[in-house]
Amino acid sequence: MIEIKNVNKYFGENQVLTDVSVDIEQGEIFGIIGHSGAGKSTLLRCINRLETFDTGSIVVDGNNVGNLNEKELRDLRKNLGMIFQHFSLLERKTVFENVALPMECFGFPKDEIKRRVEELLDLVGILDKKDDKPRNLSGGQKQRVAIARALTMSPSVLLCDEATSALDPKTTNSILSLLQEINEKLGITIVMVTHQMEVIKQICTRTAIMDGGKILEIGNTEDIFLNNNKPLRKLLGEENI
Ligand code: ATP
Ligand code: MG
Repeated sequence: MIEIKNVNKYFGENQVLTDVSVDIEQGEIFGIIGHSGAGKSTLLRCINRLETFDTGSIVVDGNNVGNLNEKELRDLRKNLGMIFQHFSLLERKTVFENVALPMECFGFPKDEIKRRVEELLDLVGILDKKDDKPRNLSGGQKQRVAIARALTMSPSVLLCDEATSALDPKTTNSILSLLQEINEKLGITIVMVTHQMEVIKQICTRTAIMDGGKILEIGNTEDIFLNNNKPLRKLLGEENI
């Protein structure tokens, strides 16, 4: 579904991704964990071409991301929803308008937008907030709006960049449950970038550990946390885990 092969990326002289290869399978919840500066966000942004990369290839559903015309790039982005740590909502617009935005950009008819937005707000559990502005919502509710917005174009993948890092533990759990429900109910593949070990342990079926722009290890999450895992110990600075 997402095949990343030998990707290298530089910002100027600074190599931020080194020979990164990861295969993400349809329907899984895949975790990418690493310290600040490891290159997690950059890798995620390469998948939907918010960033370009220098060498290697990324193929999403058979489409080579490095080699797309404008229409193909639009289609790629439709197929890849994305959510962020700080939600990226438009403060002047209501919850409804925020979620409606992608469909408006693509010129959908008003009645279809209304039906779809209300269906999604119901799915994420905040239909009753549809006329509120983001400033009147809690962090967890804002992330629910962002999730609904990311699902409007029926993507097959949801890219999550530190989606729970700004939330308290209880709210984090409720957002993780929602993501799990979306994965199971809608069959959406989820890629979770995080520096939170708990997030990985709770919902990721497989995990890649990143450090200094490299993948240190990829495997089933359970196996990664077993015993004396060296890459994990390196990541944690040899602390006990
Ligand atoms: P964090 O956990 O803090 O979000 P990260 O693992 O997501 O970190 P990235 O944001 O991918 O890390 O950054 C990887 C490296 O690339 C860092 O050294 C960063 O300074 C550099 N970098 C990221 N974006 C840019 C940019 N637009 N221009 C130049 N350097 C950048
Ligand atoms: Mg980041």
